[in-house]
Amino acid sequence: MISPIERVEVIPLAIPNELADDLDGTVDTVVVRLTDAEGRTGIGEADAPPAVIKAFLEMPSAHLWSQSPAQLLIGADPVEVTALWERLYEATIYPGRRGLGIHALSALDIALHDLAGNQLGIPAYKLMGGARREKLRPYCTIYPGLARGRSVRELMAVIERQFEQALTLGFRAVKMEVLFYDLVTDAELVALIKEGRRMLGERITMALDFGYRWHDWHDAKWVLDRVADCDIYFAEATLQHDDLAGHARLAQSSPIRVCGAEFAATRFEVREWIEVGKVAVVQPDISRCGGLTEIRRIAELCALHGVQVIPHGWKTGILAQCGRHFQAACPAAPLFEFISPHVYDSPLRRDLVSPEPEVRDGFMDLPGGTGLGIELNQEVVERYRIGGKP
Ligand code: MG
Repeated sequence: MISPIERVEVIPLAIPNELADDLDGTVDTVVVRLTDAEGRTGIGEADAPPAVIKAFLEMPSAHLWSQSPAQLLIGADPVEVTALWERLYEATIYPGRRGLGIHALSALDIALHDLAGNQLGIPAYKLMGGARREKLRPYCTIYPGLARGRSVRELMAVIERQFEQALTLGFRAVKMEVLFYDLVTDAELVALIKEGRRMLGERITMALDFGYRWHDWHDAKWVLDRVADCDIYFAEATLQHDDLAGHARLAQSSPIRVCGAEFAATRFEVREWIEVGKVAVVQPDISRCGGLTEIRRIAELCALHGVQVIPHGWKTGILAQCGRHFQAACPAAPLFEFISPHVYDSPLRRDLVSPEPEVRDGFMDLPGGTGLGIELNQEVVERYRIGGKP
């Protein structure tokens, strides 16, 4: 039943991209595929530059603290997921430990959960301790793209259309991305947020993403105070990411939950956000923070501190599926970000894996199948593989 890993493939993928000056995470990915001695596979991905992640995972071993992650997994037992996380972390602590090195290990950890689940015949959330809820609650991100010459009225028209799409698809929680930057004053931004709330009606859960608009926490607070009557669930990316002191001041005076840590890697970095940044919600990405093993540890750390975890996720269906397994297993997660392939037209998001979950009246079922419960579409892999067939 359990069998050792025989092969580690690191596959960089990209679609033709004319929007490198926008913020679409679905234009590329790097997939890790593990294969065991019986031919069973497990897949994972990292939301980081594919060529860099491939180089990191396939680097030759230099010494004990700088080993090849891919080589280290050959012959390993995939069911020992947490022990392997520790071995990988220690074996790459010289070049890794934070940032890109941890993003790379995230893809391996996700693939290990998939393979181990496939070997044991159980879904990944059972490997994470089991289901703590009966249904899942995603939120749909609403993003018209950066202005790139369009007026704010044109952007609001796209937002209104995406709101309608999301509600028609069954979502009952959305996040309005108000990345309008210099196109609007703070006072105009307040009016646009109120307009967004009016479009949605009162019963839809609404969150906001400001795209790191402010450098001064007073300015952020000025806007949050004025939209407090809009019943906003959280405020994301208000201040600069590494301004933890500013976040602490804002979080302690804001009428709305202040978020942080979407770029964070490991529980050690998230701990800073909790202890120093004082945020109400942390948003690490499962394909960047250290995988399913690390996000579960982060959720347990957060539960001890009265902090919520609502993971960032803007990649392919692999990461989207990770959000489901995570929320199934972790009570500290009231929502998870879900990029719908029906709202964003990206072939990598839409076609790389299947099946795609349904949303009904705001909720999704627990994932079915074993491991992650999704299949990689090999034809899509070949079509978008960077550099063609190896
Ligand atoms: Mg965001």
